[in-house]
Amino acid sequence: MKVNIVISQQTQANDQFVADLAACVARSKRVLVITGAGISCSGGIPDFRSSDGLYNLVKKKHPKTVIRGKELFDATLFRDENQTKCFYTFMAELKSLISTAQPTETHSFIRELQEKGQLMRCYTQNIDCLEERLDLPVVQLHGSMAKVKCTLCSSSYNFSSDYEQQFREGSPPPCPKCEHADSERVRLGKRTLATGTLRPDIVLYNEEHPNGETIGRLQASDLKKKPDFMIVMGTSLKIPALKKFIKQAARMVHSTRTGRVVFVNKTPATKEWDSVFDYEVIGDTDEWVKMTQEKLEDEQAMLTAKLTLSGPTRSRIVATRSSSSTANCSELIT
Ligand SMILES: [Zn+2]
Repeated sequence: MKVNIVISQQTQANDQFVADLAACVARSKRVLVITGAGISCSGGIPDFRSSDGLYNLVKKKHPKTVIRGKELFDATLFRDENQTKCFYTFMAELKSLISTAQPTETHSFIRELQEKGQLMRCYTQNIDCLEERLDLPVVQLHGSMAKVKCTLCSSSYNFSSDYEQQFREGSPPPCPKCEHADSERVRLGKRTLATGTLRPDIVLYNEEHPNGETIGRLQASDLKKKPDFMIVMGTSLKIPALKKFIKQAARMVHSTRTGRVVFVNKTPATKEWDSVFDYEVIGDTDEWVKMTQEKLEDEQAMLTAKLTLSGPTRSRIVATRSSSSTANCSELIT
């Protein structure tokens, strides 16, 4: 049976479930964490599709090009020159936002798990690198906005403010390495070769992950180590490869005696996840983190919760303190 916790509904039952879940956190030794865009919203990475969001800035700059939000993250956009320009402008605006964004309470919570030696691995779909500011090691499933790479030779460079400015104008800068190789050929009297351009080092839809094999090996090794708790946060669970991994990992977690899997998100998971998640917390991830930390510091609550957990029942929580400040968070890239 899955336990639903809606954070906005402050009932006694919900409170008990939050305490039970906090006890799960406290006793876990090998925690797998999977994160998506929802955990960065309160840190200043807003809804890409909201009226005052990045998407509108792109439309202002390229009024004649029709492109939908999702298309901005699809590799097929490079077939169209105008859409490509939109992509670069969008990436510049996103980069600028990232530079002023801050890690959230949820990021800090994962960092604490790591400090306590409980974190086995954190996989993130986010490209904002907010984890780096806390020295929290993560596996980036969709690449990173910290670097740009050449479309031809894959050389990698820091995503500098100069590059950001060139991207903003919609024009991809040429790759320095390709340019150098070409000028050498010209100097030697050879024919010129094509030179690549730079793009953010992120993985788009319909594109293979360049580190896909390494990530696959890491995931296989994590499964073998039998995680005993998994937290899936701030993601709308849309990417097939990640869905598969979460389901495999959940089976391993459930094969341990007291293993539990929790899903924390603003919107509930669909029915296909009913046998995967034991707890479903509906609400802001920061809110859940705060509630959990309160319980962890509450000795009495922890004592009762541990008693509850000794039973065989598996449950699902819906936690929601009505907090609407980040209600429009995007899950576009999750
Ligand atoms: Zn190159």
